[in-house]
Amino acid sequence: IKKIAVLTSGGDAPGMNAAIRAVVRTCAYHNIAVLGVYRGYQGMIEADFVELNARSVRDTINKGGTFLKSARSKDFRTKEGRQKAYENLKKHNVDALVVIGGDGSFTGALLFNQEHNFPVMGIPGTIDNDIYGTSHTLGYDTALNTAVEAIDKIRDTASSHNRMFFIEVMGRDAGFIALNTGIGGGAERILIPEEDTPIEELLQDIEEGHAKGKTSNIIVVAEGDKTGKNIFELKDYVEKKHPEYDIRVAILGHMQRGGAPSCYDRVLASRMGVKAVETLLEGKSNFMVGINNDKIDLTPLEKAIKGGSKLDMELVRVAEIMSV
Ligand code: ATP
Repeated sequence: IKKIAVLTSGGDAPGMNAAIRAVVRTCAYHNIAVLGVYRGYQGMIEADFVELNARSVRDTINKGGTFLKSARSKDFRTKEGRQKAYENLKKHNVDALVVIGGDGSFTGALLFNQEHNFPVMGIPGTIDNDIYGTSHTLGYDTALNTAVEAIDKIRDTASSHNRMFFIEVMGRDAGFIALNTGIGGGAERILIPEEDTPIEELLQDIEEGHAKGKTSNIIVVAEGDKTGKNIFELKDYVEKKHPEYDIRVAILGHMQRGGAPSCYDRVLASRMGVKAVETLLEGKSNFMVGINNDKIDLTPLEKAIKGGSKLDMELVRVAEIMSV
């Protein structure tokens, strides 16, 4: 292997820049050239490339987002699109590819490998933490800290006015952000997709809280929760039964995806970047770099994609006990 390409794909996440930097610097350390690909797979199809070296990634470790930009590429879902991407990489003498992204990006990488026998490695970059084979994805820790800080601020106003807040956090079909920021932010109730909470149960909890003398309430709702109602409908439902409650809604939204990566995410990105490149140099392919029990390890991409939920339901019990 003499040249490696690196790209970021899918939703951006804090720590992606730090991971690109780690890939580039590990290559420099081993005297390997690096080609940066702009806009994920779409840039691979359009040959939107930039030569990178150790110095071109200066001042990036502390920046959110991804300087290589990210995109969702419809063309890469077609055989023709992937063929075009392969030809572009070959034209630029690229021997292997590191993909920083989520499970969709890994699915694309695996197909690309199967069709063109091209070495690929994955680095899990998504705030949602919804990838099997790693306890933490890049950006997740930063997003938790951003969200919990926002919840703390909302709590100040909630308790000053004896208000109840429904706060929606990101996470797509996974409840990691909701569960952890709910516990960390002292939520009364947390609604996650992994648990099917009937809305009557939510109402009953709130009523019991009031009876116990709770004057303000934070209810954290994962964006993919299973109540079948959106956060405004949830508020309306509770408000209809209890017009005396003063209820507000806050949707944290994309602020959770931005910002400087936490120290944890920077170190994780650095470790993952080193491992991704060195694994390729060992002649291996089709793995995702992950972290488990603070050790960097490898999971076959296929398993990372299909592995299912790794949410520890013990946390649900902790949340329940904390809201006694
Ligand atoms: P996030 O979890 O942040 O959304 P992701 O990597 O799962 O990240 P996707 O939009 O699902 O995000 O995938 C990113 C890109 O990967 C897609 O735009 C597409 O180019 C490629 N991709 C996804 N699924 C496939 C597939 N089945 N075949 C080929 N390419 C795919």
